[in-house]
Amino acid sequence: MSGTRSHDLFERARKAIAGGVNSPVRAFRAVGGEPVFFRSGRGSRLVDVDGHEYVDYVGAWGPLILGHAHPGVVEAVRAQMALGSAFGAPTEPEVELAEAIVGALPSVRRVRMVNSGTEATLSAVRLARGFTGRDIVVKMEGCYHGHVDALLVKAGSGVATLAIPGSPGIPRAVTEQTRVLPYNDTQAAVDLLRAEGSGIAAVLVEPIAGNMGLVPPRAGYLEALREETRRCGALLIFDEVITGFRVAYGGVQTQIGIEPDLTCLGKIIGGGFPVGAYGGREEVMAAVAPDGPVYQAGTLSGNPVAMRAGIETLRVLRDTPDAYERLEKLGARLENGLKEGIREAGVRAQVVRRGSMLTVFFTDRPVGDWSGAATCDTKMYAVFFRAMLEEGVYLPPAQFETFFVSLAHTDPEIDRTIESARRALRACAR
Ligand code: PMP
Repeated sequence: MSGTRSHDLFERARKAIAGGVNSPVRAFRAVGGEPVFFRSGRGSRLVDVDGHEYVDYVGAWGPLILGHAHPGVVEAVRAQMALGSAFGAPTEPEVELAEAIVGALPSVRRVRMVNSGTEATLSAVRLARGFTGRDIVVKMEGCYHGHVDALLVKAGSGVATLAIPGSPGIPRAVTEQTRVLPYNDTQAAVDLLRAEGSGIAAVLVEPIAGNMGLVPPRAGYLEALREETRRCGALLIFDEVITGFRVAYGGVQTQIGIEPDLTCLGKIIGGGFPVGAYGGREEVMAAVAPDGPVYQAGTLSGNPVAMRAGIETLRVLRDTPDAYERLEKLGARLENGLKEGIREAGVRAQVVRRGSMLTVFFTDRPVGDWSGAATCDTKMYAVFFRAMLEEGVYLPPAQFETFFVSLAHTDPEIDRTIESARRALRACAR
């Protein structure tokens, strides 16, 4: 890497930015080497500061479902910039985006815009606690909901074990109010909610988990969470920060017909700008200030430039009749090619996919929860990642993440990616 502009920039970055990055996974610690610094992106392609081109399967970690620098989004942002970038006062774009969200997700009767997914889950948890008058929140092992104190919890062994903070700086008093359950374990959820339900404010879940690699819910799991939370008066919160407008226009909930009490959104609804949102039942959202007592605010919340990027992104998704079918077809093509490559190379790996989200797990054990994901050979993922990078394919720089395909990807590009993957998988086999 030395002698490259990326290397020089990383050297500079490390002297000015803690760890050289503004979010840890960007540092490439899980795959080795140094991060690539990017200069530009267009459609499905990225160009780094040294002029190398890559086909991108990260998509800024999910927001860029239309690809980079989509002309409509660029124009919407440009037009808003010319009108002013922030007012700290109500604007029409925030109403428009809120209407689009409320129109797409039947469970979301009122919404509140914030600036990140983290802010969305943080606010939703506070609201659930304020609304129910209860303190305990339940999360699933391997699910990530941003770096919220109460949710940054490493699972203790077993349901009853007190949760241990996943980071220094988080008081035990905070995480003692968090319970961690294995993902997809219906019985564990039923047992906990029946035992402690009257003290539980909320159950948070990624309805398709994307942060331990891609782990879909087992049949009946989300339905059971819905039924049991209703029974004990806890709120069910779907964290659809990744899945919102990714798996369908709406989210997992619109696909399977379950209505959570609250939903967290982010990523795609900001079209590549810093946006999050939380929303849900009218009487729950009525508890948010200024209508209610639960405080939540933001200088740049509902920022008109970000709103315009989100509005245009959702508009394209809605007005492109076959958008989600195309994403499905592109995803399936990639999945099939990768599976073929895995078979050919004889490596222990499996491909899990839902629509345009996909993970190659380097394990032959079934991955239905974190304990399954944890059996992955992360060193082999690193070999795969580095070989793909050499081939000009940019994948998430960690095993426990999800590849994202965008509407800007094409069949020939996917086919070239598969050819690259064949060679990379052969390198893994060696
Ligand atoms: N929830 C989920 C499901 C996420 O995947 C993420 C981030 N990847 C977040 C919340 C936090 O969002 P942000 O990084 O915008 O704070």
